[in-house]
Amino acid sequence: MGEINGPVLTGRRSLLLGMAALAAAALSGCGGPAQDVPPPGSTPATPPPAPPLPADVATPAPSVASAAGTPTAEPARPAPPSKEQIVSEFSGRRPQQWGLHVSGVVNGSAAKQVALTFDACGGSGGSGCDQKLLGTLRALNIPATLFVNQRWIEANQALTRELGSDPLFELANHGFLHRPLSVNGRSAYGIAGTADVGQVYDELMGNQSVLQGMTGGPARFFRPGTAFYDEVAAAITRRVGLLPVNFTVNGDAGATFPAATVAAEVGRVVPGDIVISHFNKPGSGTAAGYAQVLPRLLGQGITFAKLGSVLPL
Ligand SMILES: [Zn+2]
Repeated sequence: MGEINGPVLTGRRSLLLGMAALAAAALSGCGGPAQDVPPPGSTPATPPPAPPLPADVATPAPSVASAAGTPTAEPARPAPPSKEQIVSEFSGRRPQQWGLHVSGVVNGSAAKQVALTFDACGGSGGSGCDQKLLGTLRALNIPATLFVNQRWIEANQALTRELGSDPLFELANHGFLHRPLSVNGRSAYGIAGTADVGQVYDELMGNQSVLQGMTGGPARFFRPGTAFYDEVAAAITRRVGLLPVNFTVNGDAGATFPAATVAAEVGRVVPGDIVISHFNKPGSGTAAGYAQVLPRLLGQGITFAKLGSVLPL
């Protein structure tokens, strides 16, 4: 599918990934599981379903009427397997890989556009919203995919609904407790990962339910807290109907880069890149960096699209 995976990374990308690794707080900068998190097994408040997301701006869904005369934007998708099914199917598999770029995880696309993705991680110090950054995207009419964690949603419910109904944006799943996605409890940046297959399911589907309640439809893409997976967890992600996505360009290293570095890193994009940054740290250099670099990229003819427009279902 034209995916750019770890083993075929070129020098530039390897360098970028090396930089990402060096930025210790990089993808954990938004914090790990925190004290404001409900205990495992608890159910967050889920509001009544909102109206379905409007059609994609770049590729409007065809207006097709079903036999019953009601609009049908997308074919029905099968219900995801139950937790029991997943546990039965995947328990006992031993992962061989652990990291940002493992088998089954999509890092880039074959499309000519660049996909900007921004995470909102929630937790202590991680539940802000970078309105300046969103304002820049809106002013330039640049679409983006927003990966939101359940903890961030809990702290920003009205805002989540607003972003979910903005056709410029697409909401995606950033996990329930913001845990690295492991079937055997591996950790990343000092944050403990999910301990077993059942916890992987909870991390995926707990927030999937919350997002569904907010937007009226299922999210299609997933990225775990810290962006670390093992390949069994990545396979589980696909099995429940989500595409596990990471990135080719690290734009802000967990919102730790100063503006000039954000502008330099994002300024390297080429068609097919997926860029990761954060929109939950308004005090960071991220917004100023994007404000610097995006007009220049547009001037160079770079075009942008949401993940839903550049990746397969
Ligand atoms: Zn995060």
